[in-house]
Order: sequence, then structure tokens, then C-alpha cells
Amino acid sequence: MNMTNSKILNGTTVGLSPELIAGFAAIVGVDNVLTGNADRFAYCRDRMPYGLFKLRANSLPATLPSAILSPETAEEVKAIVDYARQNKLALIPFGAGSGVLGGTVPLINEIMVDLKRLNRIVNLNTTDGTVTVQAGMNGLQFEQELERNGFTAGHLPQSIAMSTVGGWIACRGAGQSSSRYGKIEDMVLGLKAILPNGRELVVRPVSRRAVGPSIKDLLVGSEGVLGFITEVTLRIWRKPEYSSALVLAFKSIDSGFNALREVVQSELRPEVIRLYDLNESKQRTENMAEFSDRPILCILKFSGKKELATVERDLALAICSSHDAVVAGLEPYDHWESTRYHSYSTKWQSDGYYMDTIEVTGTWTHLPAMYLAMRDAAHAIHPEMHFGAHWSHVYPEGACQYMTIRLPPMPEKEALQLHRQAWEQIENICLEMQGSVAHHHGAGLFRNAWVRKELNEGMHMLQILKDGLDPDNLINPGKLGLRSPVGSNWQL
Ligand SMILES: Cc1cc2nc3c(=O)[nH]c(=O)nc-3n(C[C@H](O)[C@H](O)[C@H](O)COP(=O)(O)OP(=O)(O)OC[C@H]3O[C@@H](n4cnc5c(N)ncnc54)[C@H](O)[C@@H]3O)c2cc1C
Repeated sequence: MNMTNSKILNGTTVGLSPELIAGFAAIVGVDNVLTGNADRFAYCRDRMPYGLFKLRANSLPATLPSAILSPETAEEVKAIVDYARQNKLALIPFGAGSGVLGGTVPLINEIMVDLKRLNRIVNLNTTDGTVTVQAGMNGLQFEQELERNGFTAGHLPQSIAMSTVGGWIACRGAGQSSSRYGKIEDMVLGLKAILPNGRELVVRPVSRRAVGPSIKDLLVGSEGVLGFITEVTLRIWRKPEYSSALVLAFKSIDSGFNALREVVQSELRPEVIRLYDLNESKQRTENMAEFSDRPILCILKFSGKKELATVERDLALAICSSHDAVVAGLEPYDHWESTRYHSYSTKWQSDGYYMDTIEVTGTWTHLPAMYLAMRDAAHAIHPEMHFGAHWSHVYPEGACQYMTIRLPPMPEKEALQLHRQAWEQIENICLEMQGSVAHHHGAGLFRNAWVRKELNEGMHMLQILKDGLDPDNLINPGKLGLRSPVGSNWQL
């Protein structure tokens, strides 16, 4: 353990008693129960920037987990839940910890249940075009296995190498090809989960059903608060035989919005659509003459059967040209393609900057004004606040606005206040403009306040469901806007 860690850990040693450790070891095996401080420290945060800021300043985001368990089967997950209920111990389902909103941050020394050993493809059904996979499987390994068999999941998040299939579903995530294949909720056909009451929920994969509200969708986006997803069946696609990219320069964001709206409303389905604001375009188009009087960058990728993809490309180009776009060199596309799974934040964070990303959803009616209002609000908070945005999940009725905010190195107290203010204003503008406060990162811990505002009476329904299934508030308590666990003093 390094110096920083020992400073942080000083005085925070609440762990499990030897009896409880032995109880869990009897379920998962002694080697799959971790209780050492270094391990507990490694699981005290996910990739939430706020947690990182706290660690940089030598404090924990909240608490240390009291132990880490690694079950191998759904039966072991069930036994863990039963044992935890008997002993009134709180648990957190853990995928790979790539969440960016604190969904796995322990608030009261919860026990982490790391699901990565549930990592097998159970069945690939090439007739139906479906795959059944255990929830802890690594995203990239999953996609590579499908590709070896001529398929793709069509779900390719930037974090594919550092996340699990179960985490995608628990967070209601989106991949970079969402404009063609949809978000993860469009792909889940069935699932199995161990509920907080210890019972197993099985939603059989079928193509459609009309048997009441969708039970499956209670688990999609549930962020661990309604139990452990152990297995899922997803719709998959044949790997495209052909693809072709197009880079365009637009005069303004508004002409880009209008063109892309027309493209998707014309039922064209590019695999990738990415429109960047001025700041983000500049970083990617330096020294490219095409962008001198048309500074807004747009990247499109078409794929599938060659004949079809070619027609889609021609039709989309005609639409974009009618909005005064010109075709530019492929360099920005090649750069994006070669770095699409990289994380940009690491360098800034290690240089002491306060960087974060916020993704919201807006409809076409509101997006132009929403962008300007959010950009101006960020700039008004601090003259050196960096603000950049792009739109890379585009739908017939609107799009996801993905924003990066960044403050220069400064005293932590001041920075955290400004960071909080930026979130507050951006999320509130989103609500005022009828958007959704989250498109694919979920709610976790950090978004609690705004999720409550957005869900409104729906939050009340969710709390009733949670209380019914988990009366002692033991499974990932205090997340997704739900009631905090007794003893938690976490606050922003
Ligand atoms: C650099 C970077 C890029 C990212 N890019 C994207 C992106 O393109 N698209 C996107 O959607 N997200 C993205 N994310 C966010 C994150 O990767 C996703 O939310 C991802 O789905 C989380 O998966 P995980 O397995 O790491 O889950 P974790 O972080 O371990 O958990 C997240 C939440 O899900 C719950 N959970 C996890 N597994 C289960 C399970 N099996 N059953 C029940 N609950 C469970 C946890 O309790 C927690 O509340 C990015 C993150 C980073 C750091």
C-alpha cells in the first residue's frame, strides 16, 4: 500500500467478524473472500470523478467495503443474499467498477459482490440471433467471442474493455453504434436475477409479449438496487460485411442538427453518427482546410450489406449537402476509430484538473436552446471552465448531448463547489427543457437529487417496490434516488 493509501485508511478499519468471514467462505471458498485493507481500498470507488477528486485530496469517497466476495454461480449469489439477510448485512453488486456516478460506492461498509467470475457464454442461438451470457462477462471478451462466430452485440461502449455485460444492463447503457442498434434496453430479451428477498426471477427470452407491464424492464437500469442480474439473453446481429465512413463539415451546429434529424427521420440508420460543437470540432480538425469556413465536424459510418449501406450513404450525403455540408478528409474518422475505446480523462485527472462528463437527452425542439443554455451556464460559473459537447446517440425524436466540463487545478474546496454548481445548473436546465437528466450513465449516487426530480411520482412507486423486496434496505442502499441507509452520512 502506498503512502497516500495508508493516510486515507488511517482509522477506517471496520471489517467483518471472523464468524461472518467463515460464513461467506463456506459459500464461495476462502480464496474468494477478500478482507485486507488494500483490497477494500481498491473497491471503495468506481470511476466517478467526484470520488477521484476526494481520493486525490486524501479522503475516501464515502466508506471502505467491509469485504469483497467473488461468487462463481447464481446459486452462490443466492446463498450470499440469504446469508446476508439472516445477518442484516448490506451488499453491493459489482461488475467492473467502470460506472461514473458512484453506483458501487459503499456508504455504510457494504460488502462488495464482484460478479466477474460469472463469465461464460451459455448459449449462442444462430437461428434466433440471440445469445445468453452470464452477467459478469467482460464486454470486450464477449464482443470478440461473438465476432469469432460472425455476430456482433451491436453494443460497443467506449468502456467496453473495462465493463461487464451485467453492468451495461444495470446502468441502461448505450454503445457507439446506438443510432443503428439502439440502447441496451432495446436488446435485452430475457434475464435471470436474484432478488433482494433471495428469490430467483426468471424472465424467459421471447420476441415480444403482452402479459402486463414489462417485468424485465424493472431490472434494466436498476443499478443493483433490485438485486443481482446473473444471466441475460440479448438480441444480436450478423457482423456487417461492409462499412464506409463519411466526414462532413457543417457551417453551424444548427445545420448539423437539422441534417441529422432529417437523416434519422428518413429511416436511414448509420451505424455511427457523431456531431461535435465548435470546441470539440477544433480539437479534431486542426489544419484541415475544409473546416476553415465550415467549422462543425460530423462523422458518419454506414454498414451492413454493401448495396444497402451504399444507398444509405448516398441518401444521407444528399440530405447533408442540402444543409450546406461538404465532404472532408477521413482523418477525424480514422482518429476516432483508432481511439474509440480510450479514456481521455486520465491525463487531465492526474495533472490535477477537475474533469467530468454529463450526458442528457433532449428532443429536437429543445436541443439547440438547451445546448446554448448549458454552455453559457458552465462558462458563467468560472471563466476558465472548459465546456465541450457532442451528439453521438441520435434518434428520430432527439439526441443525447454529451458534455465535458473541466476546471483547472485549484483548491479542492473551491473546485468541488464549482463542480457541484455546474452539475446543478446543467441538470436543472435539462429538466426545465423537458429532457432526461441521464442518457446512459445512470443515476448512481451522484445523480440522486435530479433523478428524484425527474421521476417524481415514479420515484414513489420505485421506493414502494424496493421496500417490498428489500424491507431492511440491504441491497445497494441509497442509490438511484432511493432512501439512504441508516448510518450513511454521504453528501455532496
Ligand atoms: C472511460 C469511460 C467510458 C465510458 N463509456 C461509456 C459508454 O460509452 N456507454 C455507457 O453506457 N457507459 C459508459 N461508461 C460508464 C460505464 O462504463 C457503464 O455504466 C458500464 O455499463 C458499467 O458497467 P460495470 O460492469 O463496470 O458496472 P459497475 O460500475 O461495476 O456497476 C455499475 C452499477 O450497476 C450495478 N451492477 C453491476 N453489475 C450488476 C449486475 N450483474 N446485477 C445488478 N447490478 C449490477 C452496480 O451495483 C452499480 O450500481 C464509461 C465509463 C468510463 C470510465
